[in-house]
Amino acid sequence: MSEQQFDLIVIGGGPGGYAAAIRAAQLDLNTLLIDDRQGEDGKPAPGGTCLNVGCIPSKALLDSSKHFHHIQHDYQDHGIQVSDISMDISKMLERKRGVVKQLNTGLIQLFKANKITFVNGRGKLFADRQVEVSPHEGEKYTASGAHVILAAGSVPFTIPNVEIDNKMILDNVGALEIPDVPKRLGVIGAGVIGLEMGSVWSRLGSEVILLEAADEFLPVIDRDMARVAQREFKKQGLDIRMSCKVSGAEIKDDQVHVHYSGGDDEHTEVFDKLLVAVGRRAASDDLLSDDSGVKLTERGQVDIDDHCRTGTKGVWAIGDLVRGPMLAHKASEEGIAVAETIAGQAGHINLETIPWVIYTDPEIAWVGRNEAELQQAGIEYNAGSFPFAATGRGLAMGNASGQVKMLADAETDELLGCQIIGANASELISEIVVTMEFHGSAEDLARIVHAHPTLSEAVHEAALSVDKRAIHKAN
Ligand code: FAD
Ligand code: AMP
Repeated sequence: MSEQQFDLIVIGGGPGGYAAAIRAAQLDLNTLLIDDRQGEDGKPAPGGTCLNVGCIPSKALLDSSKHFHHIQHDYQDHGIQVSDISMDISKMLERKRGVVKQLNTGLIQLFKANKITFVNGRGKLFADRQVEVSPHEGEKYTASGAHVILAAGSVPFTIPNVEIDNKMILDNVGALEIPDVPKRLGVIGAGVIGLEMGSVWSRLGSEVILLEAADEFLPVIDRDMARVAQREFKKQGLDIRMSCKVSGAEIKDDQVHVHYSGGDDEHTEVFDKLLVAVGRRAASDDLLSDDSGVKLTERGQVDIDDHCRTGTKGVWAIGDLVRGPMLAHKASEEGIAVAETIAGQAGHINLETIPWVIYTDPEIAWVGRNEAELQQAGIEYNAGSFPFAATGRGLAMGNASGQVKMLADAETDELLGCQIIGANASELISEIVVTMEFHGSAEDLARIVHAHPTLSEAVHEAALSVDKRAIHKAN
């Protein structure tokens, strides 16, 4: 017999789980949220990977290092003379920890305000939606939920013969706490996390070498856009080596020796630190008892239908634990949709219009399908593009690299995808998401008034360019 009964139990307090719990509480569901994460001070640290060791701290370091880089390289053009610049890494890390802590505290206040029962500890699902709760402080007990949402998130992939110690060989946790600028930083994987963290330490003075197993750089975006991005990163000094498969790493004399095959040859590079950023896997270990009834896929993700239902009645799963992009906003929207469905409303998730962002400089953002995907699906399309270098605002800002590229259905003109490389791409992509969500066309965007001078004019001009009528470039 359960000690405690709830309308909803959420296991995992990341952006998926906590958003689900807050929305459920707003809808008057008596909700228990269990999250095991603790800060360095041993206090509860809700917010998951994203808030504690992902999205937020990485953006804090990206912003700090961007200021440092701009002062050194870009301010002179504006007539600003700065001398004796130095970087206090411990202060930078302290600021980042402060941002995280402020958000952790804010979440705990939100849980209280919404009357969510929050337990800092582990949860494990048993049969009949019984959840074993193991608080970090206090005795184990069982709680029972009319519904249970599994939101345990993800953990980093590892590779054989490369042992993470988070001192010399780092995952995302260690990469956010490097105490001094490494002279040479190796990064395995030139994906989202590798590029972002590589950028941070490169801007602070490291020589950064990225070893990527794939033959093509950023295969998720179009080849012409990937070339634009690769050129920008090369200018910044990031040494991105494709077709390099790492086979092992060892620590000798306080340095990391990395062995990899590239072409037909075997190579070794020596680094002061090594970051392993080869993707993430669902955190399904020790989450489910054998009798829970919940099935995992071959990849260890919780198996769900289009509405995040597992095969077990009343048990749902969301976020990084399940299929789809491993992104915080995707996790949150799934959490909210599931909470609303449980409360009898119509939950809505559209995986087709989820924006992706890489927060490098320039930023890279995209949504919808790319050219290769459209070709594979046999869909005829028209493409339009526009460079930021032809916008007054980009030039006035002194930040005009990159371009917008848009793809629209050849027959209906419906917007099918868009990729943006440039300053504030992370914000600009929202307009495209809204248009796509409403099944708008390139013509719709072309007819909407965009403020002048703004970077959004490049989005407007790319839409015009789909119909070969951009104003500020030859069509
Ligand atoms: P998580 O955030 O992983 O949260 C799950 C929580 O559940 C964790 O706190 C975990 O400790 C806890 N937990 C697990 N098992 C149990 C259990 N049995 N009992 C209790 N608690 C448990 N995404 C973006 O959209 N934008 C970005 O800029 C971005 N940057 C990133 C940068 C880095 C370096 C990394 C690593 C990731 C980044 N991501 C980003 C991805 C993003 O962090 C994830 O997609 C997001 O956190 C997934 O949310 P979630 O709620 O599914 O899981
Ligand atoms: P992401 O999933 O965006 O974090 O990117 C992870 C990247 O790591 C992908 O581009 C993978 O191709 C790459 N990768 C995976 N395994 C290896 C490996 N052994 N050596 C080098 N790169 C790898």
